[in-house]
Amino acid sequence: MKIICIGRNYSEHAKELGNEIPKEPLFFLKPDTAILPLRQPLVIPEFTNDLHYEVELVYKINRLGKYIAEEFASRYYTSVGIGIDFTARDLQEECKRKGLPWEKAKAFDGSAAISRTFLDLTNFESNDINFRLEKNGEIVQAGCNREMIFSPDKLIEHVSKFITLRTGDLLFTGTPSGVGQVVPGDRLEAFIGDKSLLKVEIR
Ligand code: MG
Repeated sequence: MKIICIGRNYSEHAKELGNEIPKEPLFFLKPDTAILPLRQPLVIPEFTNDLHYEVELVYKINRLGKYIAEEFASRYYTSVGIGIDFTARDLQEECKRKGLPWEKAKAFDGSAAISRTFLDLTNFESNDINFRLEKNGEIVQAGCNREMIFSPDKLIEHVSKFITLRTGDLLFTGTPSGVGQVVPGDRLEAFIGDKSLLKVEIR
């Protein structure tokens, strides 16, 4: 399986990092080795001094597809979970400055924390999936799928022009504003609605 991640899909977040609102989706990949094993803490890697959290809705692809039209894209997923796209912001800024790929900053081991439970989308009004991240018990990020610049269906259409989607692939759909640094001892907890779905301790 692969992890497809979307960048700059919420305008307030694009602005907070000084980026323009994209005209087409921006995506990058994380390998399966990026998945943080369940209930394991994330140890801050030695190569970064500025590790950031980015909480995101994650859609699980459940069919094989290529060149999927937006109007049919909703047939390719039935559930949503929550994830944290951990980012070495200092390395990412350096990569951006030099025009280099982002893998060093985004694809390292443990950089994809993903809830074990995915929620059936039939439980939600289609444009009303609220989610949030708490750090040490305080809300640091909150978003709703309706604030996405590109909907999951548009994202699937775009990505599947380039890359075949397979059952089990995961689509991180971008983070709302409020990203920030973690330090050892921080405790992150991510929610969809009022359901706590993911906890990560930082070491
Ligand atoms: Mg992200």
